[in-house]
Amino acid sequence: MPRYLLSLDQGTTSSRAIVFSERGEILATGQQEFTQHFPQPGWVEHDPAEIWHSTLSSARHAIAEAACAATDIAAIGITNQRETTLVWDRQTGETIYPAIVWQDRRTAEQCAALKQQAGLEQRVTEKTGLLLDPYFSASKIAWILDHVDGARQRAEQGELAFGTVDSYLLWQLTAGRSHQTDATNASRTLLFNIHTQQWDDELLAIFRVPAAMLPEVNDSVADFGRSEAELLGAEITIGGIAGDQQAALVGQACFQPGMAKSTYGTGCFMVMNTGSEALQSKNRLLTTVGYRINGETTYALEGSIFMAGATIQWIRDGLHLIDNAKDSQPLAEATGYDNPVYMVPAFAGLGAPYWDPQAKGAIMGLTRDTGIKEIVTAGLQAVCYQTRDLLEAMAEDGVKPETLRVDGGMVVNDWLMQFLSDTLAMPITRPQVTETTALGAALLAGLQVGIYDSLEELAEFWRHEREFVSQQQESVRERLYQGWLDAVERVRVQH
Ligand code: ADP
Repeated sequence: MPRYLLSLDQGTTSSRAIVFSERGEILATGQQEFTQHFPQPGWVEHDPAEIWHSTLSSARHAIAEAACAATDIAAIGITNQRETTLVWDRQTGETIYPAIVWQDRRTAEQCAALKQQAGLEQRVTEKTGLLLDPYFSASKIAWILDHVDGARQRAEQGELAFGTVDSYLLWQLTAGRSHQTDATNASRTLLFNIHTQQWDDELLAIFRVPAAMLPEVNDSVADFGRSEAELLGAEITIGGIAGDQQAALVGQACFQPGMAKSTYGTGCFMVMNTGSEALQSKNRLLTTVGYRINGETTYALEGSIFMAGATIQWIRDGLHLIDNAKDSQPLAEATGYDNPVYMVPAFAGLGAPYWDPQAKGAIMGLTRDTGIKEIVTAGLQAVCYQTRDLLEAMAEDGVKPETLRVDGGMVVNDWLMQFLSDTLAMPITRPQVTETTALGAALLAGLQVGIYDSLEELAEFWRHEREFVSQQQESVRERLYQGWLDAVERVRVQH
């Protein structure tokens, strides 16, 4: 009986594939970066063929590296950059326009015009849990239909298909036999009613998207079809799909309400399990589908920080204060936590819970003895203070995570993890397997093919590597955080 699981992790800058053992251990990895296209200011596109070919070659590489037979792979799980939008011809499988990436702001005006209609944004938020923003798929689909010759008519006649990256990969893997997505990806389109778990006619009308082009929405654990034999060397069942942040929630085994994970990469995404309740935030956090298994939806609350590791990149590549991201740790150790310098990394405005797109970044509290180490430390501390901002917003919404499990490239920084725990007054847990996104997709696929019986069984795989416990005095914690709030106040443009 084959017992390996292949996870396809299609991210924003690279495609990866990991072969996992049934115990959730990494056996082999394949990875390929691909081109980012910026045709105009604010526009971001990917070549769909590159998305597919980089995924396929990563998968082939991982299988070869694992030295296993394709027939030993019990199932494939897919996880992906979310919201990125593709439209293709159902006959040929050819896309009619490049993939419009989640970061792309070209539909800002259309979204602003919709917001002018009284009550519309509130209506959209009630149904989708999201904000009326270009970030999500709906306005991107309409843009393609409005700008590619004849596309709207062809879409209405059922000749075109829409998909997020998961659907597109599934279509390619199954040679067009399967046009499906899962509920987590559907919940990021602005077209999906997260309460009824269906595409919503009113939303389709608002965003002018024909129903004929939509994929079928399935559970995150489901029979999505089988891959064509010649692609990977055998027909393999695709058994799990989830958007990247939701897959990480699964990979971090956050299966109980109140459990949260935070991923510290370029940006930071915090996702908290809220159980069967779709909690509507009063602080503009997003309500989303955490996962859907056996027809049962588990909801989540999500908050994001635009600049997390990207702040350290800027300190390295923009200011040239350090050569490597990891050099930030000894500098912070030398500075200590009681740093009078604050950095507000509002390079792309301020996200949750401030939502001030016009705010600009600032470094404050400089004196003649300020040096490189204080500025670098302030960059790390900003990530922690912003995490606390998100938690405060969640607390105002009536929920507070009991634990925070972390992953992403920044979490190797022990100083950062300790200061995070101090700032939040909460234990921070770092797992042994930090490839939680890929792991989550593999586990979902394993559930489908019966390698695992239940989420409880999956929770047993999760092992902590280290826990960071706060040692800071309450008065110090609050004084430092108050300094951050004062700094943020000074950069805000909108209140
Ligand atoms: P992504 O998946 O978004 O590309 P990763 O999860 O690979 O990002 O994390 C990379 C980020 O982590 C980079 O922005 C880098 O600046 C940051 N980073 C890496 N190592 C450290 C470190 N030791 N201390 C602080 N930041 C780090």
